[in-house]
Amino acid sequence: MTELPLDTAVLELPYVGEVYAKKLDKLGIITIEDLLHHLPFRYEDTSTISKISTIGILPTIYTIKAVILDIRNVYTRYGKQLTEAVVEDETGLASVVWFNMPYLSKSLHKDTRLMLSGKASLEDMGRPKFVSPSYEVENSKPSIHLGKLTGMYPETKGVTSKWLRTRIHETMHKVTVPEWLPPETIDTYELMALSKAVKSIHFPDAIEEQNKARQRLAFDEMILIQLLIQAKRATYRKETATAFSLEQDFIHKYKESFSFPLTNSQITTTKEILEDMTKAYPMNRLLQGEVGSGKTIVAVAALLQVLESKKKAAFMVPTSILAGQHYESCLMTLQKFGYTENDISLVVGGKKPNPDAKLYIGTHALLYKTGIVDSISLAVIDEQHRFGVHQREKLTSASGLAIHTLTMTATPIPRTLALSIYGDLDISRLTEMPPGRMEVTTSIVPNTKRLDMYAFIRSEIEQGRQVFVICPLVSLSDKLNVKSAEEEFETLKKEHFADYKIGLLHGQQKQAEKDLLLQAFKDKEYDVLVATPVVEVGIDIPNASVIVIEGAERFGLAQLHQLRGRVGRGKHKSYCFLLVSPHTTEEKERLKVFAKNHNGLDIAEYDLQSRGPGEVYGAKQSGIPLLKAASPLDLELIEKTAMAARKLSSDGLDKYPQVERKLKAFAYITEQRN
Ligand code: ADP
Ligand code: MG
Repeated sequence: MTELPLDTAVLELPYVGEVYAKKLDKLGIITIEDLLHHLPFRYEDTSTISKISTIGILPTIYTIKAVILDIRNVYTRYGKQLTEAVVEDETGLASVVWFNMPYLSKSLHKDTRLMLSGKASLEDMGRPKFVSPSYEVENSKPSIHLGKLTGMYPETKGVTSKWLRTRIHETMHKVTVPEWLPPETIDTYELMALSKAVKSIHFPDAIEEQNKARQRLAFDEMILIQLLIQAKRATYRKETATAFSLEQDFIHKYKESFSFPLTNSQITTTKEILEDMTKAYPMNRLLQGEVGSGKTIVAVAALLQVLESKKKAAFMVPTSILAGQHYESCLMTLQKFGYTENDISLVVGGKKPNPDAKLYIGTHALLYKTGIVDSISLAVIDEQHRFGVHQREKLTSASGLAIHTLTMTATPIPRTLALSIYGDLDISRLTEMPPGRMEVTTSIVPNTKRLDMYAFIRSEIEQGRQVFVICPLVSLSDKLNVKSAEEEFETLKKEHFADYKIGLLHGQQKQAEKDLLLQAFKDKEYDVLVATPVVEVGIDIPNASVIVIEGAERFGLAQLHQLRGRVGRGKHKSYCFLLVSPHTTEEKERLKVFAKNHNGLDIAEYDLQSRGPGEVYGAKQSGIPLLKAASPLDLELIEKTAMAARKLSSDGLDKYPQVERKLKAFAYITEQRN
């Protein structure tokens, strides 16, 4: 038998033609290696073989070994095709029926010995009957589908677990999975050999064996991440950036320039950032803090430090409106240090950057404006509206000097996730809010109380407040049974808020149109704004005191938290009302947790545990690597692999050519995905 290299395309495997290759591609399977790493997400245990005589009245799953006495295809009056069979073991007879599988009678015949597994019960006539059981023909070879622990795989249309299992089984015997970790690492962490792990995860003899196998594969996934993180960090350290000397009383003077005391978190994080900027290699730091925690003040301290050292900086934000807002607040702060409008250039709407300015403020497009990147020493990137941290742009000026970068995010990132995924970043956290913020009262509103809710909202509007109504979709979708923004807008205009001014904002509008609407809402030209979740990008509207979220069960908790952060920003007591679609049950638990909890980090942690990081942060956007065996929340695994990776790195990876090769391939794939 010829051996196949692991990077062979699955297309070249027997029984995999163009059609299957396309389907496998949907599952992320392109090479043989991908196929072998397509892991079962659960196992069915059919290892207990029953006798036909033990089958009882209640429909129960049974697995039997039997021989076919008779098999035939039958057509019902309604054109349905049935395959009916009678099978026998040494204790009796059973009938079997399959629906719409006429091809069965080609491979199953009288006298075929087979295993059957599925729901069976005694029929009226006293004979046991199996309905649509799985089957496996018994021959001289050991079984792979039944009579054992059987892996169930993520499937796609036309690709069943049985098909995948068969392909994986065939393929496993045609390849050697080489060991790539050094023997010391394997010994120290008591790892199962890789080739055995790959076999055992698909075809385990016992569940403990499967656990050991999964641990090995998880170790591999996480140690690669850790090796990559360490390599990236080492690269940053080798680059040169402007080292800013920090004046003794700088932070003190900065604090004093505000009419209110800065929070302890603001002071600590400001110190961390300024400290970083004293180094001659680039800062690569993430400032994480909830909406309203006061990130801007911290960022402006860093910007000021640069200006005071006669260097230039840029401040990038997601939208032009925010750019304008930041321009105002930067100007206010910087004026106290002697800077004027001439020093700050707001670069929006096709305006040319002022070459004499010291600080440029604009959207992310700023980076591509001629000259700006070449002249700055610090870039602050505000991405608070986004979920997950995107690939950070690598910033190097024309002079070859690396640029310090500070990214800001309101996305709560638990410590474990930060370590496993954003480990190449240093993280500063704002853990407290400025004093005087009121919690937003959150309640799940039953549909029977909907009218009461509208009455309450009208009383808020009468008192001058404004209201957000968030709907999951733009236009009507019967199938999903969720309120669409357009439909809701019409209903509210006609029925509940007929006396008020009401606007509609959705993701399909042009940016300029959205900006105008939001500005109009801010200027109180509307009482109610019906919107799809795009208001995450929204501006600060302190007068808004109510947010209604329709189809709340369809949102992730982290996203709900961001939405809730749109209200409670001013001095008014604020409310968040969650409405769920009819027939929603299991999601209510999640929403209850959300209603009670106001800490974004706790909410994210809960959401991650129950839904997984891909769902919460969006696998693609967040740059979260595809983990199949490992959990990015597994602190023990992270610590173990980080330690193992450090050991390998400090020995020098050139000593471990297999590790080096594997890491290169992994870095390449990660790059491709981002
Ligand atoms: P975010 O973290 O969402 O970017 P901002 O920086 O926009 O938050 O701050 C939100 C509001 O809180 C601003 O109006 C800001 O002036 C105010 N603020 C920031 N820090 C403090 C503080 N220590 N005390 C009182 N108000 C503060
Ligand atoms: Mg902000």
